[in-house]
Amino acid sequence: MDLKLYDVTDAEYEEIKQNILFTSLEQVKGWARSNSLWPMTFGLACCAIEMMASSSAHYDLDRFGTFYRNSPRQSDVMIVSGTVTKKMAPTVRRLYDQMAEPKWVIAMGSCATAGGPYVKSYSVVKGVDQIIPVDVYIPGCPPNPAALIYGINKLKEKIRYEAKTGKRVI
Ligand code: SF4
Repeated sequence: MDLKLYDVTDAEYEEIKQNILFTSLEQVKGWARSNSLWPMTFGLACCAIEMMASSSAHYDLDRFGTFYRNSPRQSDVMIVSGTVTKKMAPTVRRLYDQMAEPKWVIAMGSCATAGGPYVKSYSVVKGVDQIIPVDVYIPGCPPNPAALIYGINKLKEKIRYEAKTGKRVI
């Protein structure tokens, strides 16, 4: 948008243009939400060790404005890291339901995305997307913390895109 203001010099006008930002409230909300994610710690198996390492000093996930919480009431992202057994599935669903909207899910590792090495087991859910909607899938057995950080940044892009367009991307 190019607004010409009267009663200001051209130099003042150029300075004003550099210091005023036009946007929508939805885009501001998307920007704020994407830069302050609160994932729920949800380690189910070995992938959880890599998830824990992501917030260590070496990988420093905090620098992206992402801080782990211990309660679904305080979280807006569920990172499912590990094997989802059929016995655990109702608890995963209940915790997801306890999170307030808006909320997102990251399936971390082969087990959470598709059953992993236990895909033929009678006791394992073949992907957590069978019980809750998943926004980002991170492959690997296990994916390293850098892969998780990449996935979180992809989720941020998705949140901003959804805020900008008003479309839910599945
Ligand atoms: S994907 Fe591999 S590392 Fe991750 S929980 Fe499954 S078996 Fe463990």
